[in-house]
Amino acid sequence: MSTVHVDRPACEGIGMCETQAHEYFQIGDDGLVDLVTPEVPDGDRDYVRAAVDSCPMSALRIVD
Ligand code: SF4
Repeated sequence: MSTVHVDRPACEGIGMCETQAHEYFQIGDDGLVDLVTPEVPDGDRDYVRAAVDSCPMSALRIVD
């Protein structure tokens, strides 16, 4: 199990994370990312890591 963390003040709502893994990241009504769930099962870790790495603002990180 890994955990995703978001630095909301760094998010600019570009939405790359939502495009790549909408099961975990969604843009909220305020235009910033919301985590659907911070908990990432091992089977989804590489999938979510790719979305984390896609953020151009480095607003996301995943901790094992
Ligand atoms: S990719 Fe980064 S900047 Fe864009 S919505 Fe996701 S967290 Fe925010």
